[in-house]
Amino acid sequence: MAQQSPPKPTLRQRLEILADAAKYDASCASSGTAKKNSLGGKGVGSTEGMGICHAYAPDGRCISLLKILLTNHCIFDCHYCINRKSANTPRARFTPQEVVDLTLNFYRRNYIEGLFLSSGIVRSANHTMEQLVEVARILREEHDFRGYIHLKTIPEAEPEIIHQAGLYADRVSINVELPTTAGLTRLAPDKNAGQIEGAMGRTKARIIEAKDERKRFRHAPRFAPAGQSTQMIVGADGANDAAIIGKASRLYGDFGLRRVYYSAFSPIPDASAVLPLKRPPLLREHRLYQSDWLMRFYGFAPQEVADAAEADGNLPLDIDPKLAWALKFRASFPVDVNRAPKEMLLRVPGLGTKAVARILASRRHRNLRLDDVARLTVSVAKVRPFICTVDWRPTFLTDRADLRGLLVRKSEQLELF
Ligand code: SF4
Repeated sequence: MAQQSPPKPTLRQRLEILADAAKYDASCASSGTAKKNSLGGKGVGSTEGMGICHAYAPDGRCISLLKILLTNHCIFDCHYCINRKSANTPRARFTPQEVVDLTLNFYRRNYIEGLFLSSGIVRSANHTMEQLVEVARILREEHDFRGYIHLKTIPEAEPEIIHQAGLYADRVSINVELPTTAGLTRLAPDKNAGQIEGAMGRTKARIIEAKDERKRFRHAPRFAPAGQSTQMIVGADGANDAAIIGKASRLYGDFGLRRVYYSAFSPIPDASAVLPLKRPPLLREHRLYQSDWLMRFYGFAPQEVADAAEADGNLPLDIDPKLAWALKFRASFPVDVNRAPKEMLLRVPGLGTKAVARILASRRHRNLRLDDVARLTVSVAKVRPFICTVDWRPTFLTDRADLRGLLVRKSEQLELF
């Protein structure tokens, strides 16, 4: 008797597979959150559900996106990836038209404001990239779709096809994958660091050219107006936080990236033997995002953030990197809240950019007291050892050997309430 081939999965089944496979992509705002589920109908607000993610539009709005893969078939064999060629995982594939239809259906029902589309590599990098571009082309040209589009691009594809992606998408991203070239060679043997950075460099140049063109000609085509971003996997190779921070800062500098996303490596079913058995603590990903913030908004040089790391080159998990830096470099404190320049106020643990702006505005009219600062911060206990006001000096507190322990206890108590 002739063997019957298994029935083709329905659109819904394929959506489940390809939305689930996309959850490993961290390039959106909801990727780093603690996962909560609402299984069994208990509770609302699940972050486990697949298919919708959140991202920030260029104007700062938080928008929801349909986040899926075009396919999870792949001819590459990256060890850390659930979709790699040798993985035993259910496979599925959409046609470009199916992705377009799903996007428009979800959009019309007000479920989403845009699309985040990535893909495994089928047949060839060029073929896959053409299919991704085709989705964006149909949406923009045939349906006049004005929603947000984020396309993952494949660095191995021809530059001209990647260029097409930038003409239709708001944001493009190219995954750098791992913090070191040695890690990439070992864990993603089909990928090449030079090719990845070459594609990032060309994308940067085209973004700049398009901006210049539009200054001269109002109708010149846009090219990735929301810029480019990348993603780095944390904890799959041996790279420590200092190396990751150094790499991220170089990527920001060399390629004008809008964001570097971190994705804590998670052990996958049927994992390759070269991978660690345990995922790194989720808090490590969070500390790296905090260090990213220090470099982008608090004026810290990459080396200064790396200096906050412990002897093994990793940031402490029990305190944030700004507090870790302040505890290591206590000679820079206390800072006089009524006189210190903005750069030094931004270094005070517990003072965020908004609090610093309000301090600078208020002190033009009067001298600030400790109570005034307390009203601007969540924990004055965290700030007190590092500042002076007209009525407060920390005297020996700043230099106490047990200061770290005191502050860790306070922040644990804060988390309880
Ligand atoms: S190319 Fe992408 S989808 Fe394919 S195995 Fe590597 S990381 Fe996974």
